[in-house]
Amino acid sequence: MHIFKNLMKFLAVFLLSLSLTAAFSACGSASSAGGAKPQAVAKSGSELTVRMLDIGQGDAFLLEKDGKFVMIDTGDIEHRDQIVALLHKYGVKEISKIIITHPHADHLGGMNAIFKNFKVDAIYDDGMPANTGSYKNYLKQIKEKKIPYHVLKAGDEVDFFDGVKFHVLGPVKVIKDQKGNSDFNNNSIVGRLTYGKFSMMFTGDAEKEEEKTILDKGGTLKSDVLKAGHHGSRTSTSPAFLKAVAPKEAFISCGQGNDYGHPHKVTLDKLEKAKVKVYRTDRNGTVTLTSDGSSYQIKKERA
Ligand SMILES: [Zn+2]
Repeated sequence: MHIFKNLMKFLAVFLLSLSLTAAFSACGSASSAGGAKPQAVAKSGSELTVRMLDIGQGDAFLLEKDGKFVMIDTGDIEHRDQIVALLHKYGVKEISKIIITHPHADHLGGMNAIFKNFKVDAIYDDGMPANTGSYKNYLKQIKEKKIPYHVLKAGDEVDFFDGVKFHVLGPVKVIKDQKGNSDFNNNSIVGRLTYGKFSMMFTGDAEKEEEKTILDKGGTLKSDVLKAGHHGSRTSTSPAFLKAVAPKEAFISCGQGNDYGHPHKVTLDKLEKAKVKVYRTDRNGTVTLTSDGSSYQIKKERA
């Protein structure tokens, strides 16, 4: 009996030290996340979680606070099962708001599967119509399910959660490509999320042309984290935009060995030169950021 008691004591101490190690490694990632001063004690609110989901080539961000969920983009059609599985994994049943930054398949593609599996309370997009089956089905579902639908433009504000706002910075105006067609990437919804002192810039696939219109319009761009535009393509993250956002961290969502070569070396070099720490789904899997509105931590699924 005595030996059994000692064994239990040993186990308890062992487990305690294990959990302490885990806590310390979490703090480690906080300090490496930059700007995460030891302010965690002075909590200013409940925890906001921003997950950059590992869904191959495309963008899908799942935001969570107080048991509520918001999504920014939904990944590509071919990864829809993966997206549904990830949403189930994170306990999603209902999504209060979905923002589709632009109607390309690698951002809109998960919607059909999301409509089938989850309750969606409101949808926001840039109002650009696409001539694709998935886009037409998306509009049909919105209509059939009578989901409130809104078009966003620069100057709008969306309340994501209690204390968490999404300040829309783009599109400022409709940008056409050289053939005079609407340029989907450059009409992406760009927005700056704020929660207390924490801020994150979401860019969709905005390229340097849309970045310029946002810079020209003025306003606060400085953000702790930048979701690098267009999967880290060389056509985005122009030097002036990067300088204005001045992030400590950059998030890049891209598929392993994707056909586009995203992220491009020139973008990675620019970020490195600006001492911005890069997190990317092709290498790090799902990347999870948490913030209480004063500090933030970032955890990678894979090193
Ligand atoms: Zn894209």
